[in-house]
Amino acid sequence: MKIFKFGGASVKDAEGVKNVLSVLKQVGHENVLVVISAMGKMTNALELVNQTYFEKSSEFNAALQEVKKYHNQILMDLYEDENHEVFYDVNSHLSDLEYFLRSNKSPNYNFVYGQIIGYGEIISTTIVSHYFNEQGLKNKWIDVRDFIKTDANYREGNVDWDQTQKLITKGIEKKSLNITQGFLGSDENNFTTTLGREGSDYTAAIFAYCLNAESVTIWKDVPGVMNADPRFFENALLLNQISYREAIELAFYGASVIHPKTLQPLQRKEIPLFVKSFINPLLEGTQVSKGADLDPEIPCFIIKKNQLLLSLSSIDFSFMMEDHMSEIFALFAKYKIKVNLIQNSAISFSVCIEDKYGNFDVLKPHLAKKFVISFNENVSLYTVRHFNEEAKEIVEKNKTILLKQISHGTLQVVTKE
Ligand code: ASP
Ligand code: MG
Repeated sequence: MKIFKFGGASVKDAEGVKNVLSVLKQVGHENVLVVISAMGKMTNALELVNQTYFEKSSEFNAALQEVKKYHNQILMDLYEDENHEVFYDVNSHLSDLEYFLRSNKSPNYNFVYGQIIGYGEIISTTIVSHYFNEQGLKNKWIDVRDFIKTDANYREGNVDWDQTQKLITKGIEKKSLNITQGFLGSDENNFTTTLGREGSDYTAAIFAYCLNAESVTIWKDVPGVMNADPRFFENALLLNQISYREAIELAFYGASVIHPKTLQPLQRKEIPLFVKSFINPLLEGTQVSKGADLDPEIPCFIIKKNQLLLSLSSIDFSFMMEDHMSEIFALFAKYKIKVNLIQNSAISFSVCIEDKYGNFDVLKPHLAKKFVISFNENVSLYTVRHFNEEAKEIVEKNKTILLKQISHGTLQVVTKE
């Protein structure tokens, strides 16, 4: 069996839905399970519904209308006959959502989030499944919440693998073309949970693992995984092959390849993962699998902007020792500061950090009590895996370098913007 995953960008409008059908026709759809995300930016739109609902904001109605309007537009673009049962199905999901919003009494933000947000995927798969059937591609719509079980951590559910495995083994018919939702699961009381934002890739991996699938393919609007972000680097090249391990390393340094959570179940069963273009589906794309670390063997560039370079030294000129370090790291953990690079010497300690939640200003006085601190805001962190002289020059040229580190064939440079 093969697992295909189509993200929100692939089904952002009627043309997209038609294109997904054409991809399946070109590459084959036998023994395939298709995982689909919410259309376009509908998950963000539903997050806004949730937020305005809780804030009792005057924007709530507009936020809800936006979700309805978006889906209805796609329906109208796909179907001439407004009496087609797909209109009925989609509107009945939307009515369920409205009923929930009217009748809900739970003050639990995360619980309510789960119940609202899931409609993005439920509706997108309803539209796609009907459309395929209508066009002669017979398929079975399945509710992923009957298969993927999680704990009641509503926004970042942890998979109950035993139960999930049992349900999938028992309930998935391998012969049919199955269409299901990414990102969602359900808890023991059958309430909707989610696997965390951008969780649909993980859904594909869960199915692949439980079905011992032959492969997973993630269909994207790019030709595959590149060795650099084309927005920041000229001449970005396609990577043909990446080992699981290398993919995890790249993700660790911040490359937007595949999330480690998605790779782990695949790696355990050595199921290859392909990243391919839904615009040119017959091209090879990238394969993440056992085997060569990287093909071609070229430097991979990762850039992280908006970093903060912080240097700490002891007030009394004593060495920076274990107790200092543990104190500093405990504070980072407490204030949710992400550490991307560490360098230390006898009396000073530098870290390149990311202050995602804007907590640094609160943290600063705590650090200043014990250490002499200095910092540079708005710096960039360049990481080059498998670097060579030419790659080094590309990242260092015309830049003010604040810190440099080389380890295990990886170059990291902190520069002023
Ligand atoms: N629709 C969800 C999100 O946007 C899941 C996904 O796209 O993977 O986060
Ligand atoms: Mg999405």
